[in-house]
Amino acid sequence: KADVSKITSGQVIIDLKSIVKELVENAIDAECSKIELNFQNYGIDFISITDDGKGIPPEDFESVCLRSHTSKIVAFDDLNNLNTLGFRGEALNSICSISHRVKIKTCTEYPKNYELEYDNLGKLSKSQSKIGGGFSKKTGTSISIEKLFVNLPVRFKNFIKNSKREFHKAITFLTQYLLIYPEIKFSVFNEINGKKSLVLSGRGGAKTSVLDNMITVFGSNGAKGLIPISLSINEDIKLEGYISSYSFGLGRSVTDRQFLFVNKRPVNLKKLAKIINDVYKLFNHVQYPIFIVNIEINPSKLDVNLTPDKTFVMIHQESEVFEMIRTEL
Ligand code: ADP
Ligand code: MG
Repeated sequence: KADVSKITSGQVIIDLKSIVKELVENAIDAECSKIELNFQNYGIDFISITDDGKGIPPEDFESVCLRSHTSKIVAFDDLNNLNTLGFRGEALNSICSISHRVKIKTCTEYPKNYELEYDNLGKLSKSQSKIGGGFSKKTGTSISIEKLFVNLPVRFKNFIKNSKREFHKAITFLTQYLLIYPEIKFSVFNEINGKKSLVLSGRGGAKTSVLDNMITVFGSNGAKGLIPISLSINEDIKLEGYISSYSFGLGRSVTDRQFLFVNKRPVNLKKLAKIINDVYKLFNHVQYPIFIVNIEINPSKLDVNLTPDKTFVMIHQESEVFEMIRTEL
């Protein structure tokens, strides 16, 4: 496997949100059509994620949770050709180091599947093969994390104190994936004192659209006045999504319903958000529209290796690109 130590960038896992992000991105990278997340006590006691993606092949069992193991980059040059969300091979290793135990169940060839356990260093400590059960005749992976932060006393105390807020932050972040991957069926549950409740869900399937999920998340008016936009900026950059014909801002938290993605990665592109807000104010008299916009960029024109969580991206010749978007909007 590739030596990606050159592109590692310190600790990815700082809070519940980043854990959920990394796990969900792994499921998406495994080309799943279904993701189920289960939290116990807002994630304090237990977190699990199950997908129906391609599974982890037995030859990777020893290494998946080791630092810098990734199956997604084979040569360093692949970074210029990246079409997966992950590439550093740090997430599972960090998760092992900050939790009591990580268990993985995975299946690449139904009905044979495996139950694996990893220690704090990410070393495989138990491996057992099974036949049938659990994966409904499909491939997939289920990862469970027991007692997050338990070996980091200060963070553990803080997590317990702020668990509801941390949980809410994680779910809000997760919602962005649900919106931009409408074809994936999401179900998220939280269990408190043995009582399990549905926190977030999306129907999934080829017929579900971004607008359907806007309604699912924000209620029956969630897609009201959202007008499709589709712009070809140049041969490497396309912009697609929806922008509302009416104001949402003023008095509410503006960013609550302004979503920007680059290659379906939720990103923080304040400059571009400002351009959209400015153009809509000037030409459409819309103060802070609702928008959900994905910019599809040739990966060779993009650098996502800037921050551990990859929510900051650098587009080559960004100012020129943004000016072109301003003119086209
Ligand atoms: P990265 O995503 O940067 O490669 P991770 O630490 O997140 O690193 O995951 C390490 C490796 O474990 C991945 O490259 C992939 O091969 C495997 N993996 C993790 N989660 C899944 C999953 N849900 N399905 C299939 N493979 C997975
Ligand atoms: Mg990953």
